[in-house]
Amino acid sequence: MAASGVAVAQTKEWSFGDGTAAERWSEVDAAYAACDAGHMQSPIDLVDPDARATVELETHFGTAAGKLSLGKQKVQIDFDPGQDKGMKSGDTQYDLLQVHFHTPAEHAFDGERHPLVAHFVHATEEGRLGVLGVMFTEGEANPGIAALLQAHAKGNGTALTVDIDDMVPDTLAVWRYMGSLTTPPCTEGVNWHVANEPVEASAEQIAALRAVLGSSARSLQERKGRLLVAPR
Ligand SMILES: [Zn+2]
Repeated sequence: MAASGVAVAQTKEWSFGDGTAAERWSEVDAAYAACDAGHMQSPIDLVDPDARATVELETHFGTAAGKLSLGKQKVQIDFDPGQDKGMKSGDTQYDLLQVHFHTPAEHAFDGERHPLVAHFVHATEEGRLGVLGVMFTEGEANPGIAALLQAHAKGNGTALTVDIDDMVPDTLAVWRYMGSLTTPPCTEGVNWHVANEPVEASAEQIAALRAVLGSSARSLQERKGRLLVAPR
């Protein structure tokens, strides 16, 4: 094994597939083993819940400042720290770190995917991850997406302010289960909350994000016996 000690630093590229076939990211890099070997991967199809219950979820969002972070198939707002934005799920307090988008949505409702999703990524003080996913359906223009697209036109690092509540349903009823990040390294232990009701964005806004993000939804992962709670 000593011969392998001379390592050449290199960045291996992963990519989204067509959103249906398994991506096999572990074949790109051994560091992504969990993506294929894990037992609590995301996204999943939201269907046949084990239970229906009202998940206690309080959000404190409102207007927040951040900076646009662009990458390959990535449009993200990194929120400035210290703004006290986040969510409380049960007794666990999560601080909002960033929001990013996928086209189409990653989680499905009984096999059907919305054209766009926002993933609000949070972490506890101890670093445990919690995500709130909100689907978008075609309708009225969304002020939050408008601000995002304006900043996108100016490029990476552009400062922007969004009212997060524009991108979250007024009444938040969520599906909840334990899953993973949906991009490498597919880290598990993510407390997933997916809003049952979508919010609206215009067809033009959805098309504009689709043009930037391309096909950016990971294939659906097997549930493997995990508890899935649906809203009442
Ligand atoms: Zn995501």
